[in-house]
Amino acid sequence: MVVFRNDPCGIVCLFITYFVVLYSDYVVIEWLIIPTMFDSIWGAFHGLVFNIIVFMIFLSHLRAVLSDPGIVPLPSINLDFSGMKAGQVPKKLVTKDGISWSICQKCEAYRPPRAHHCRICRRCIRKMDHHCPWINNCVGEFNQKYFIQFLFYVGVAGLYAIMVTVISWTYDCPICQNMIHKNARIAHSIILVVLSLLFGLFVIAIGCDQFQAIFEDETAVEHVKNKSGSVNGYRSTKDQKSKMMLLQEVFGKGSVFSWMLPWRSARRVPLTPPVDWDV
Ligand SMILES: [Zn+2]
Ligand SMILES: [Zn+2]
Repeated sequence: MVVFRNDPCGIVCLFITYFVVLYSDYVVIEWLIIPTMFDSIWGAFHGLVFNIIVFMIFLSHLRAVLSDPGIVPLPSINLDFSGMKAGQVPKKLVTKDGISWSICQKCEAYRPPRAHHCRICRRCIRKMDHHCPWINNCVGEFNQKYFIQFLFYVGVAGLYAIMVTVISWTYDCPICQNMIHKNARIAHSIILVVLSLLFGLFVIAIGCDQFQAIFEDETAVEHVKNKSGSVNGYRSTKDQKSKMMLLQEVFGKGSVFSWMLPWRSARRVPLTPPVDWDV
């Protein structure tokens, strides 16, 4: 299922993301590789590697943006929630498997454990971590893998861009005999390094949070709820699972190499809704 949020803040962030990535590619090719490494095999090599990384950024980003993050389906029948405030509607429904679904007052429906309501998506999302404007979507059970891949490739691109900048400035630059070209090259190089550092540190910080959430078996939303002492909070099962099992819950059971490939579908555990309604 393809989803797209009409959230102005998220759409602006998408444009910023595309602009920064395309601008970085332009500077790396036009101002760093072509002026100094045009006739060298290393020029072709760095150009190819950087564009493969850019391609992986776009692919993982596109999948994180357009994938269903784990929207809990609404029941096919309208449930009567008119007596909800008076306590006439059961707060929990138990499925055939003995899993209790809690009520979401905003969706006026029941949701499985670990699903939380997102006010921007206006739906309950399975294993919701947070709503991320940079992908204009929630980070949830179905797209967390693509989100982490996106962070990884942005970090790699930032590192590679800084490396190409350093290498390029150690070469002779024929176009730098013209002062206008030289100044423009300096300006583009500085902006590229600043952007690389800024976004590089940003994705490292978010990436650390993501892996902490995976290893703690507790999403950001659950962490806040548990900290505030919510009685209905999710209790982590990390003590019953190895780190590998926790990683496989997000990335799937394939090889570690395949975890970084955005064309492999994310893992999906089918839902078994409560006995008295169908999804
Ligand atoms: Zn909801
Ligand atoms: Zn959301």
